[in-house]
Amino acid sequence: QEPSALSGIRDQFPILQTRAHGRPLVYLDSAASTQQPQTVIQAVSDYHRLHHANIHRGVYQLSQTATQLYEEARARVARLLNAAEPAECVFTRGTTESINLVAASWGRQNLRPGDEIILSVLEHHSNIVPWQLVAEATGALIRVVPMNDAGELDLDAYRALLSPKTRMVAVNQVSNALGTINPVREMIAAAHAVGALALVDGAQWVAHGRTDVQALDADFYAFSGHKLYGPTGIGVLYGKRHLLEGMPPYQGGGDMIEHVTFAKTTYAPLPSKLEAGTPNISGVVGLGAAIGWIESVGLDLVGAHEQALLSYATERLEQVPGLEIKGMAREKSSVISWVMVDPPIATLDVGTQLDLQGICIRTGHHCCEPLMDRMGVSSTARASIGIYSSREDVDHLVDALLEIAEAARKRARSSVARIGPA
Ligand code: PMP
Repeated sequence: QEPSALSGIRDQFPILQTRAHGRPLVYLDSAASTQQPQTVIQAVSDYHRLHHANIHRGVYQLSQTATQLYEEARARVARLLNAAEPAECVFTRGTTESINLVAASWGRQNLRPGDEIILSVLEHHSNIVPWQLVAEATGALIRVVPMNDAGELDLDAYRALLSPKTRMVAVNQVSNALGTINPVREMIAAAHAVGALALVDGAQWVAHGRTDVQALDADFYAFSGHKLYGPTGIGVLYGKRHLLEGMPPYQGGGDMIEHVTFAKTTYAPLPSKLEAGTPNISGVVGLGAAIGWIESVGLDLVGAHEQALLSYATERLEQVPGLEIKGMAREKSSVISWVMVDPPIATLDVGTQLDLQGICIRTGHHCCEPLMDRMGVSSTARASIGIYSSREDVDHLVDALLEIAEAARKRARSSVARIGPA
């Protein structure tokens, strides 16, 4: 049974009423991108129809309205994250750009040869490669927190890696590939104890529960709008004021300056200093609408619904013969990864066959190649859920997987029969 408070949620998502390959759409790829409710689509459309103008510069009313919408969205972001003030929330293109901003700006200014950056084996490439780039440029070194076979980070190993050489710890709050919820609060406290800063990649968390950057004591926090029921191409970097103030601009251009002469340029105060050029105004408006929408649903309710559905999906997938779930952490959120081992079926085949039945999942390395290497696989199949996901979605997935597994077993049996006993 779906909780009654959630009834009517699915109807708010126009795309969930569409079909794929003639079948009703079963969307189980919310960890890649969530779908957008009508309120968000409407807010973006209203912006384009009624309020579009460049922000921050116009003396005319339309520009002022656009500016107001843009800054109201920032205030909503600050509320969502419990930032001390909106100016600590910088708009970016997404999590990737947010992490690149910190690595390039803070990293190039602060890292010296021999300094250490700690990442985890669970990181998305966007929380690995920017650090590799800055490590190469500065002579800093990267250290990696390992995990156990359940996909949980080894905190003893983490503590052993921490030292006065550690300058930055960058970890995700939830793994996009396995769904593990990492103990970021504890990890941040340990980082601070050795004088390091901590960046949290919150891409897979913000849509699934409450976030409080002050309670976490995160120095930086990054997320993307398109995983929070908002548009693509918009995201956020939260940073503590004194850190953002100390950082050089990431990009130069319009809006981020105070005065420009050929001799010397001075920069605008936060957050403009870190938002060069005309931003993605409609994306910001859409993100603001998405935050308003998810808050009206209630993040506690979202979390409860998703946890119940995750348990149900785990139980049901465990019943599929030959299916092995990857990542069985005690604390998980909204993601299940698996491989078909007996008989082996390539994850790409699984994904393609599910697609023919209108079922959208993700297959591949999920931008986590080091994690795949650690698990000894090249890819997994991944189903991920959101607030609109239902038991019926899970049932469709499991029924289809049972058929796929049965067909593979039949093929395996008939090839044994053809070849004959050894
Ligand atoms: N980190 C994590 C944990 C993610 O899941 C993703 C998106 N898959 C990213 C970072 C990158 O986000 P984006 O592509 O929106 O920049």
